[in-house]
Amino acid sequence: MASNMKPTLRWLLEEGVVGETYEARGWVRTKRDSKTVSFLALNDGSIITNLQVVLPSELDGVAEVLEPVGTGASVCVTGELVESPGKGQRVELVAKSIEVLGLADGETYPLQKKGHTFEFLRSIAHLRPRANAFGAVFRIRATLAMATHRFFSDRSFHYVHTPIITASDCEGAGEMFEVKTSGDEPFFGRSAMLTVSGQLNAEALAYGLGRVYTFGPTFRAENSNTSRHLAEFWMIEPEMAFADIHDDMDLAEDYLKAMVDAVFEENEAELNFLGRFVDKTLIQTLESTRSQVFERISYTDAIQILEASGERFEFPVSWGVDLQTEHERFLTETHFKKPVMVTGYPKDIKAFYMYGNDDGKTVAALDVLVPRIGEIIGGSQREHRLDQLEARIREDGLEPEDYSWYLDLNRYGATPHAGFGLGFERAVMFCTGMQNIRDVIPFPRSPGQAAF
Ligand code: ATP
Ligand code: MN
Repeated sequence: MASNMKPTLRWLLEEGVVGETYEARGWVRTKRDSKTVSFLALNDGSIITNLQVVLPSELDGVAEVLEPVGTGASVCVTGELVESPGKGQRVELVAKSIEVLGLADGETYPLQKKGHTFEFLRSIAHLRPRANAFGAVFRIRATLAMATHRFFSDRSFHYVHTPIITASDCEGAGEMFEVKTSGDEPFFGRSAMLTVSGQLNAEALAYGLGRVYTFGPTFRAENSNTSRHLAEFWMIEPEMAFADIHDDMDLAEDYLKAMVDAVFEENEAELNFLGRFVDKTLIQTLESTRSQVFERISYTDAIQILEASGERFEFPVSWGVDLQTEHERFLTETHFKKPVMVTGYPKDIKAFYMYGNDDGKTVAALDVLVPRIGEIIGGSQREHRLDQLEARIREDGLEPEDYSWYLDLNRYGATPHAGFGLGFERAVMFCTGMQNIRDVIPFPRSPGQAAF
């Protein structure tokens, strides 16, 4: 390692040199004693695999030191790295000395026992990062974040930062959190909200920088207590000038595939673990996502397929209704058995900024649907024709004056442009097999839940 940082267990396991002496620091996952040796399985969060530490009983004072050490304790072991006779690991460490850094009382430490439900672990969100499944999920989350930056950077997108406090409601929906001081005076001279999307600002930036993307927190006061909605979530929003709905679809497909590729490349052990204990179909679903061409259909086709399906949906289907999760999942999981990109939604159910198609009824909206999740991406080609844009704002009962800066964008140098928003937690769910969105963000915020 070309630094003075202490080696991680990942480094020791993968690159440590047999015969050398190292210090290994980590938390004890298990302790086993036999007549002549004790074994500690150590984990430091750098990798899912534990480092096996062998402590010969003849080591000076080892029995007393080990006596109170149990699951959850932190230790530093100095020893020689040797080839492991056991299967599934290259090396293990034969201890020369051990120092206890911190004990964990087995009577009260909640992770002493295995087999807790995810629901219980949610109630100890401050301790659950130490559980294997959450280590796996959060390492994959980190991989997806880095893969996102690599993907866009490789395609000449500039990473931009859009405001979190905003006065414009991009979705035209009421599900916003207001930002206030404790006094009466409106701090910003008008009411202000936590952003539901960085899109409008991203459009302004795309009109100067060409291709941009945001990656930031987003807030929605969703009342629905679903397993796919959070009050605070992270969104990636690319925006491209000189691009239409087809470019948007190409970008969305390439991006999802790049994320899946990255997880296969960097988190094979995590995938195997999650595929075994969380979702048996995980690896197959991800494999087919990266190897298959996504289906591209119109909303009108989607409605026809759903009507002809003979399925009994909770929400009935007809042209003009918004697709519900059950419809989305039928299309992607049951009918096409792969990711599906749906375009051409009725303009009445979509936001004013979406490009109006020639039929006068639909807009160039794009939703990307994936198995087990439903909608993972929502986007569109944007309306860049000033007259149409103003008309759509009025149609939606909004005031063009309130959008004067946004209208300015297309007053000068308008061009077709497009973008989308990917819900980062939905992507993490998709790549980990986790069923509840509260289990893929470290400290979830949802109705009634803001502890930790
Ligand atoms: P949905 O219909 O699933 O509620 P939406 O159509 O309201 O989503 P968009 O406004 O299109 O969502 O936002 C873009 C993406 O952000 C969605 O495709 C989804 O992946 C994600 N997303 C939206 N709302 C939430 C939320 N409350 N929690 C987590 N992710 C969300
Ligand atoms: Mn959407």
